[in-house]
Amino acid sequence: MIIKPKVRGFICTTAHPQGCAESVQEQIDYVKQHAGDQQGPKNVLVIGCSTGYGLASRITTAFSFGANTLGVMFEKEPTERKTATAGWYNTRAFEDKAAAAGLYAESLNMDAFSHEAKTAVIEKIKAHMGKVDLVVYSLASPRRKDPDSGEIYSSTLKPVGKEVTRKTLNTDSVQVHDITLPPATEEEIAGTIKVMGGADWELWMDALMQADVLSDQAKTTAYTYIGKSLTMPIYGEATIGKAKEDLDRAAKAITAKLQSGNGGDAYVSVLKAIVTQSSSAIPVMPLYISLLYRVMKDLGTHEGCIEQVNKLMTGELFGQGDLNLDEVGRIRVDLAELTDEVQHRVEALWDQVTTENLYELSDFSGYQKEFFKLFGFGFDGVDYDAETDPIV
Ligand code: NAD
Repeated sequence: MIIKPKVRGFICTTAHPQGCAESVQEQIDYVKQHAGDQQGPKNVLVIGCSTGYGLASRITTAFSFGANTLGVMFEKEPTERKTATAGWYNTRAFEDKAAAAGLYAESLNMDAFSHEAKTAVIEKIKAHMGKVDLVVYSLASPRRKDPDSGEIYSSTLKPVGKEVTRKTLNTDSVQVHDITLPPATEEEIAGTIKVMGGADWELWMDALMQADVLSDQAKTTAYTYIGKSLTMPIYGEATIGKAKEDLDRAAKAITAKLQSGNGGDAYVSVLKAIVTQSSSAIPVMPLYISLLYRVMKDLGTHEGCIEQVNKLMTGELFGQGDLNLDEVGRIRVDLAELTDEVQHRVEALWDQVTTENLYELSDFSGYQKEFFKLFGFGFDGVDYDAETDPIV
C-alpha cells in the first residue's frame, strides 16, 4: 500500500514503517554522538517503551551504556490492510538495531497494568537478564483496569476546584480559540490518580522485588511534568497534576522498600514539555508547546525528547556529579523551560497569538513537523509514494 498520514483530531491513524525506523535511527545517532565514558546500567526494563520519553530511555540506555533492554508497550500490530501503530514500528526497528549492535532487546505487547504483564516480564528477566539495574516507568494511558478488582478507571484532563477558560489550539483545524473546562468531580480526580498516579509503579516494583530480579542498588524512575503559570490550571494544579503528586508519594514508598532490601532508589524525574502522542491530546498544551519551541529555539536552548532523556541518564541518574534534586527530591531536567526569561517571552506571545498570526508568532510549523515524525512521516530518506508493505 501507499502509506500517507491520516489525521483524526489529535492523532494520526497511520504510521510509516521506514519512517519510524528513520526516527529511531536519528535518536540512536544523537545518543552515540553524545555518549560519554561513564558507566551505566547493563540491564534495563522500560515500561511504556515504544514512543516518546520511554522509547528515548530505551535508546539512550542501549546505545549510550550498551544496556540490554526489555520493554512493555501497548501497540497495534499491522495487518495486510492497516498499518501498525507507530510504537509497534519503532519497536521493531529498535529491536533490529539493538540486535545488530549485539544487545538483547525484547518487547512484550501487553497491558502493563495487568498481573500477567508483570509475570511475563519477570520470566523474561530470569531467562535473559538475570537481574535489572534500572526500571523506567513511562506510561501514559487514558484508562487502567485494576488487576485485582477488574474495575476500569479513566483519566480526565480537567481543572480542580473551579472552571478554567484558556486559549487553546485545535491542531487539526488550525484554529486558536478559547476553551472552557469545567472542574473535575471527586470521582474524576480519583480516577485520574488511579490511572496516572504511582499505584501501578509500586505494584511493578513490589513484583520485581518479590521475584528477586532487581540487582543491588537498583534504580527506578517515573516521569512527570510540572510547568508554570500558563499550564498550571490545566496541568500542574489539575487532575493530571494530582495524579503526578501521587508519584512523589510512591517514590518515597518504593525507596523505603528498596532500602530495606538490596538497596536502591526511586526518583520522579521532571522533563520538559515536548510533542508526543500523549501531550498532543492535552488541551492547551499544543499551543503552549508551539510558543515554547519558538522561544527556546530563538534562545538556542531548545531540546526534544532524546536530548532530555540523554541529559537525565548521562548527566543525572548515571552522571558523575550530585543529582540535581528539588525540595521534593525530584530530579530536574526541565529547568531551562521554566526560567523567567522563557516564561515571560511565552506569556507575551500567548497574549497576542490568534489563528491569523499563529505561524508567524509560534513554531507551529515545527510542532506539525515533529507531530508527523512521531508517525514516521517527513523523513528525507523515505519515498512516501512508494508501494510499502505494512507488515514488517
Ligand atoms: P507516549 O504516549 O509517547 O508514550 C506512552 C507509552 O506508554 C507508549 O510506549 C505506550 O505503548 C505505553 N502504554 C500506554 N498504555 C499502556 C498499557 N496499558 N500497557 C503497556 N504500555 C502502555 O507518552 P509520553 O509523552 O512519552 O509520556 C511518557 C511519560 O512522560 C508520562 O508519564 C508523561 O506524563 C511524562 N511526561 C511527558 C511530557 C511531554 O511533554 N510529553 C513531559 C514531561 C513528562
